[in-house]
Amino acid sequence: MEDDIDRVLVDEQVIHKRLDVMAKEIRQDFPGEVLVVVVLLKGAFVFAADLLRRVPRMLEIECVNVASYHGGTESSGVVSFLDHKLPEVKGRKVLLLDDILDTGRTLKAVVDRLLEEGATEVKTGVLLAKDKPHAEDVAADYVGFYIADEFVVGYGLDYQGRYRNLPYVGVLKTPVS
Ligand code: 5GP
Ligand code: MG
Repeated sequence: MEDDIDRVLVDEQVIHKRLDVMAKEIRQDFPGEVLVVVVLLKGAFVFAADLLRRVPRMLEIECVNVASYHGGTESSGVVSFLDHKLPEVKGRKVLLLDDILDTGRTLKAVVDRLLEEGATEVKTGVLLAKDKPHAEDVAADYVGFYIADEFVVGYGLDYQGRYRNLPYVGVLKTPVS
């Protein structure tokens, strides 16, 4: 698996140090509140697990399965809610976590849905954000790292279901498409 990696973009120690800082920001932004955290599967599961264990607040963690890639390396632009059951968020503050902000369509679609369902506030956190104009008018409130516009894997991010368990974020050797 490691042989397929051309270069490491963000290594494990660097990720963990950054998560300490992000967790502190989140703790300060939500003092003493019970927060609903919505984790977008599958990509955000590693990020969420490592980040949320650094947030000693009363959290209600929910997972929602969405997909926008359908196996390729380009966002399809169609965000499907694979798991239609959204958590009860009426009157609640929500922290939405995803692995990466690319076109922004995924975050936008889910933020809109959560607001429609009556969330009073939705803050968004991503491990990575691609440094490019996002098709949708969204910005994440908490961003781990800004990266160039290239396809990355690891630390939860996959290529055709693989590489999610790499402890770092890297770029694959062979150009994939
Ligand atoms: P968006 O809706 O912002 O275009 O895309 C967000 C989703 O596309 C992410 O949740 C992630 O699953 C996937 N994605 C976007 N860029 C990459 C990438 O560079 N690598 C991988 N593995 N997935 C990506
Ligand atoms: Mg994905």
